[in-house]
Amino acid sequence: MLPDGGIAQELVTVPISPSDAEAVMSTCDVCGNSTFHEERVEEIFLIEGQLVMVEHIPARVYDRCQDATFDRETVEQVRRMVHGSNRPTRHVSVDVFTFA
Ligand SMILES: [Zn+2]
Repeated sequence: MLPDGGIAQELVTVPISPSDAEAVMSTCDVCGNSTFHEERVEEIFLIEGQLVMVEHIPARVYDRCQDATFDRETVEQVRRMVHGSNRPTRHVSVDVFTFA
């Protein structure tokens, strides 16, 4: 998915404001490109202090930089899933490094 072989994607903080969600739909925040394809991705969200990884999320992936964006309904669905009665599929632990 990523050119360097799968380093975790940048953290996406939920919630994002509706205006932000509208803005990312047209051009990429990272490279300004506007050509993308649909792809299922995995992403790590920070929801009220809790880190969760969600797999198989439908996303727009920009062709140039491979940055993935989600529409507002998808983000809402992720939030409902995490807050709802759904049980996690599996658990992973994460090593944390401080850049120095
Ligand atoms: Zn881009």
